[in-house]
Amino acid sequence: MEMKFKSILDEPKSHIVIAGPCSAESEEQVLTTARGLAALGNIDLFRAGIWKPRTRPNSFEGVGVIGLPWLKRVKEETGLKTTTEVAKRDHVFEALKYGVDVLWLGARTTVNPFSVQEVADALQGVDIPVMIKNPINTDLSLWIGSIERIYKAGITRIAAIHRGFSVHGDNKYRNTPRWQIPIELKRLYPDLQIICDNSHICGRRDTLLEVAQNAMDLDFDGIMTETHPDPDHAWSDASQQITPVQFGELMTKLKYRERTTDDAVFKNSIEHLRHEIDEIDEELLNMLGRRMNLAQEIGQYKKKNNIAILQSTRWNEILEKSVKKGNSVGLSADFVENVLKSIHEESINRQEKIMREP
Ligand code: PEP
Ligand code: MN
Repeated sequence: MEMKFKSILDEPKSHIVIAGPCSAESEEQVLTTARGLAALGNIDLFRAGIWKPRTRPNSFEGVGVIGLPWLKRVKEETGLKTTTEVAKRDHVFEALKYGVDVLWLGARTTVNPFSVQEVADALQGVDIPVMIKNPINTDLSLWIGSIERIYKAGITRIAAIHRGFSVHGDNKYRNTPRWQIPIELKRLYPDLQIICDNSHICGRRDTLLEVAQNAMDLDFDGIMTETHPDPDHAWSDASQQITPVQFGELMTKLKYRERTTDDAVFKNSIEHLRHEIDEIDEELLNMLGRRMNLAQEIGQYKKKNNIAILQSTRWNEILEKSVKKGNSVGLSADFVENVLKSIHEESINRQEKIMREP
């Protein structure tokens, strides 16, 4: 589906900064956080969860509608625009009633087309920016599907929030970034703003800067970070929240990259290097084409002689030899294995096709 997006901010800027507590807990906690953030300047949106989707029941599920006037006060007192998560029709109506400026869909909502559609229906005819978090699992289509549903409701001020993916066995991140997924989203929709939610990727404080910097290096359009006046005692996501002052420090350390430059020397050298890359890519593709033709020829022989396609010993030898060779030219074992597995899969597919031919 073709989509044309507008900035979620009234005055577009190159990097959007969103901060605020995971959850609104009390009027005092919300306002203290907002005052601390407003003092930093440069904050575009104040976030706070009013309705919290929790993995298990009986954990704190958000204060609900009583928290909405607190967000209104934030805006009146500090001038900060506000944003909160909506997952149901009623959430949308209540948030709109209290003048919340921007809405977002959470990772547990994006996975469920029924819920996304319910929110989209409630948004029909409403002109408000919406941010859409990636689904919990590594499924780009689901993410795009949610964006499409909201877009079809008439919303064009849309941003995507990258909050990482739940992947079994990763102990560095709470939610593994899998950067290739937002990179692919950006390739498909170049005008869609992508914001990095470093808090939910990290799940801890000490890696927040590293992940935010990574996002800036990849030309993301902003960050969303959870901040709390007393992070250790936060009612949700305590281990990943930082104080507004700590957030200010993080922001001063964060380096924004330029998209491009007019520097002639830089442009020249980049162009030269890119040209070389293009030539190598072409050579690689020609060689892959030749390799597949050979695989097909082998397939014909195997068929004629009634030999099985998969030759595990041979495949293992290729893999081992290539990992060693790769290592000697500075390629990681993981990378070589991934490339070869993909090549091998295509060879097998082609040989299978030959076997099936009458
Ligand atoms: C949140 O932002 O507090 C939240 C619940 O995030 P996610 O939907 O990414 O888990
Ligand atoms: Mn949270």
